[in-house]
Amino acid sequence: RIAYVNGRYCAQSEASVNIEDRGYQFGDGIYEVIHIHEGRFVDTDLHLARLARSLREIAIPAPMDDAALLVVLREVVRRNRVHEGIVYMQITRGVARRDHAFPRHVRPALVITARHGAAFPRDLASWAGSAITVPDIRWGRCDVKTVNLLANCLAKQKAREAGCYEAILIDRDGMVTEGSSTTVWAVDAAGVLRTRHLDDHILPGCTRAALTTLLHEAGIGFEERGLTEAEFRAAREIFLTSATSFVKPIVRLDGAPVADGAPGPVTARLFELFARHADGPAHN
Ligand code: PLP
Repeated sequence: RIAYVNGRYCAQSEASVNIEDRGYQFGDGIYEVIHIHEGRFVDTDLHLARLARSLREIAIPAPMDDAALLVVLREVVRRNRVHEGIVYMQITRGVARRDHAFPRHVRPALVITARHGAAFPRDLASWAGSAITVPDIRWGRCDVKTVNLLANCLAKQKAREAGCYEAILIDRDGMVTEGSSTTVWAVDAAGVLRTRHLDDHILPGCTRAALTTLLHEAGIGFEERGLTEAEFRAAREIFLTSATSFVKPIVRLDGAPVADGAPGPVTARLFELFARHADGPAHN
């Protein structure tokens, strides 16, 4: 495998970063993950826009412009011959003597890797999974896609130990925020498709944004209104979205079936819509 590290392509097994990189010492950096489907990036513009926003929000200068970044991203994918998989990019504030305050005159560090993955799932029933709920113990700027993922890792580990795909986070007010690495959607007991509104407590998912556009185009109504834990447990359908989860039905929650324990009709429709979108030509 070939990685891109600060201007150089090298064997990933030999790639390294400085031990005083602020990403390593402070989690002072941001990242993006773009899905590669049939050799093409999915929703590139949305991911690059979010990357730029994340950088802006924590005042890290962009290491290069989008056009140059796209060239490097494509090159990493080409060198790794990834047809189905992901490309990962991480930008940290850079290398400096350890001091909490921002260093001056450092260059941001950029690392890009690509990885083969399973092809886009085509069968909804076999793509269905289960989830647990856990308290959302994260910080106050979850809208920035930082590499500070300890709380997310602890949550995902709990899910793994429970044999589940995802841990869904519940905040102190008893509201569903999002999954440890996914956006949460539900069809509530009244049949209304809902996902939480965007603010600084959740990551603005690119898959969420893409799906939102598809919903508008298809004339399917939905509300950006978070669910209480009780509403969530009474949901008719639950599904997750992310660049690597696509539209993922959740059919068991904390060991109990969601409704009748099978993917519901709204989830099925959106799964089809998103599959067509991912297959389509509207990507870089
Ligand atoms: N929420 C969190 C906390 C995430 O880490 C992710 C993706 O990694 C998402 C939501 C979904 O975002 P996207 O659809 O852009 O992959």
